[in-house]
Amino acid sequence: MQFFFESIYQGEPPWDIGRPQKEIIQLEQAGEIVGSVLDVGCGTGENALYLATQKHEVWGIDFTPLAIKKAEEKAAQRNLLVTFLALNALELHTLGRTFDTVIDSGLFHVLNDEERHLFVDSLASVIHLGGTYFMLCVSELQPGSYGPRRITQAEIRGSFRDGWHINYIRPATMEGRMSSEGARAWLSSISRE
Ligand code: SAH
Repeated sequence: MQFFFESIYQGEPPWDIGRPQKEIIQLEQAGEIVGSVLDVGCGTGENALYLATQKHEVWGIDFTPLAIKKAEEKAAQRNLLVTFLALNALELHTLGRTFDTVIDSGLFHVLNDEERHLFVDSLASVIHLGGTYFMLCVSELQPGSYGPRRITQAEIRGSFRDGWHINYIRPATMEGRMSSEGARAWLSSISRE
């Protein structure tokens, strides 16, 4: 899996749109993203860098070193401070700190079933009690089979049962390079209890 991502980041990945996702901008503008932010599976960092311009303290992690390298280069070019680290999202406890908010644009939907369970435990180790995880994933309403596996609302609810409160799961759009209208997605807001 890591090899797949490392090779695709040699070029221009279909999800890497060179700007923040609209849904992330809207969350920020609505005041839903508060305090310190961790971007999990941050890729080349557009969402993390955008939130840094909005005066959040931001960290971004991704297990693909090339993506992190590109993200660090963008931060330097734009004179923005974001702490980018090459790290597996299943081992977030090694960060040794917690955040008010965690964002995920396109990580959860690439994890297999076993990884999903490990990821949810890993996530719990880096979110304050009462902090919120915002997750954007491609939904089962997206036709065809191109791209990541589709995620249903029931799967999201099933993954975040104990110790989590689902504030909402709402229809959303995930932008990409492949089509101008983007992919049908779910935007979830899930708080740690
Ligand atoms: N959030 C970015 C990238 C989405 S693509 C964006 O919106 O553009 C999914 C990303 O998750 C890739 O960058 C991939 O390298 C990363 N990834 C996949 N599995 C991971 C894991 N187990 N730990 C950390 N990063 C992972």
